[in-house]
Amino acid sequence: MSAPPSPAPLPAGLDWAAAEARAVVIIGTGPAGLTAALYAARAGLTPLVVQGPAPGGQLTTTTDVENFPGYPDGVMGPDMMQDLETQATRFGTELRWGTVTHVDFSHAPHRLVVDETTPLLAQAVIAATGASAKYLGLDNEKRLLGRGVSACATCDGAFFRDEEIAIVGGGDTAMEEALFLTRFASTVHVLHRRDEFRASKIMQDRVLASPKVRVHWNTAVTDVLGEDAVTGLRLKDTVTGEARELPVQGFFVAIGHQPNTAIFAGWLPMDEAGYVQTHPRSTHTDVPGVFVCGDAQDHVYRQAVTAAGTGCMAAIDAERWLAEQDVIDETRTETEYHAAPAENPETGKPVKA
Ligand code: NDP
Repeated sequence: MSAPPSPAPLPAGLDWAAAEARAVVIIGTGPAGLTAALYAARAGLTPLVVQGPAPGGQLTTTTDVENFPGYPDGVMGPDMMQDLETQATRFGTELRWGTVTHVDFSHAPHRLVVDETTPLLAQAVIAATGASAKYLGLDNEKRLLGRGVSACATCDGAFFRDEEIAIVGGGDTAMEEALFLTRFASTVHVLHRRDEFRASKIMQDRVLASPKVRVHWNTAVTDVLGEDAVTGLRLKDTVTGEARELPVQGFFVAIGHQPNTAIFAGWLPMDEAGYVQTHPRSTHTDVPGVFVCGDAQDHVYRQAVTAAGTGCMAAIDAERWLAEQDVIDETRTETEYHAAPAENPETGKPVKA
């Protein structure tokens, strides 16, 4: 394994003495970040959430979400994120535009820099920066995202019942998603740029044994066709250079995910793919007061509901840690929460315990 990278230095000239100081700063506004915010806000911690470059996270790029509990008729991804935001702000979460561009976890409180220019101090940091699906980088792939192009078979596979769909990739994700898609599609075309899969043998064998799967070896996708919805793909043989078209109604991209954790390099231990390593059955990291939840630390489940679950864990971990450091009063149970007045009658401020 290579040596961990050195942390990026903070921009010079920031006035840390005048920096805004918060008990809890949450980085990211996907299901993990907003659930952490909801719990931290209900605990009276008035969390500040720095939204990041893609407010709402990956769900804002999907259409119908049918697998998040509580929405029996499904919900549009952006609407669900709006609901989560409304719920979190109802209890005192403060949302702020901007992206955390630098961190320095060598001090207490921790130092964060927003948009290269604004210093921010946090006793506890909850990192919920998520992951981004990798895409091929084709213009029409981007244009038709959510209209036949998807990077999440679990989310969108059911919309292609009895239709022909294609999936690109040769790793375990592509195999797993191709198998999942066979439940719905009439045919699943697996497109791989080489003549052998990278995936584990057991997953390959399952895919190759499926009567609904057709594997296209040595095949690159060069364009996605369709005006308002996907109608096909333009393909190229990577050996002969021969071009052809494949009519499909759905196109799934499964060429890997990139966790959005670059700003933590050198501060938090990560695996080789960049997922932050948290302590078992918790969101604690090796840095006291820094908690990580959601897809930034999970390459296995990667679902909105699991991200939300770890967001809840992070807020509870952070609250308990802050209480241990005497930054806040005792942590509150849900029962105490409901028994406590909403505000201190003397100060008008939210009550913590
Ligand atoms: P991987 O990096 O393992 O595989 C990515 C695949 O996409 C490779 O086959 C690669 O091709 C292909 N690819 C990458 N870039 C392009 C491109 N620009 N154009 C065309 N094809 C491209 O990612 P996965 O998401 O599949 O897996 C990530 C990790 O998670 C792995 O360690 C995997 O084992 C694990 N995982 C485990 C699962 C399980 O155990 N159930 C399920 C899912 C993932 P090439 O092979 O030519 O490089």
